[in-house]
Amino acid sequence: MRMLIDCVSDFDAAGWRWPHFVPRELACHCGGRFCRGEYWHDPDFLDALEALRAAIGRPLVINSGHRCALWNAHVGGAAHSMHRTIAVDIRLAGQDRHALLKQAEVTGFTGFGLGQNFLHLDRRAKPARWVYSGSADAWRT
Ligand SMILES: [Zn+2]
Repeated sequence: MRMLIDCVSDFDAAGWRWPHFVPRELACHCGGRFCRGEYWHDPDFLDALEALRAAIGRPLVINSGHRCALWNAHVGGAAHSMHRTIAVDIRLAGQDRHALLKQAEVTGFTGFGLGQNFLHLDRRAKPARWVYSGSADAWRT
């Protein structure tokens, strides 16, 4: 069941079945400035993320997961950013960005934001792909 948790510390992680991730790394990263660690729990999203992790066979570092409203605004996120529910920006240091993108496409993601140092992934109704300003060269093959 998808649900918003006000404080990730209060989340009952009994039955957590995604071994390579913990709720805290997907919760708001504002560090208590604007919220108490909001977390959007979405099992289908976690299934896709875990499948991607399994296919890649190496750690995925989450730069940004869920964002509370004020943190989203603070970091310049779009008003209706998928980060307001759940999306991830995966750090690209040490990753084969093209392999990661290709795997993400077959493990259930539909939104792809190509950044210089990160890959944004979400699961939206209408598939979309975009390149962040200044990042095109990094993705040129
Ligand atoms: Zn926050």
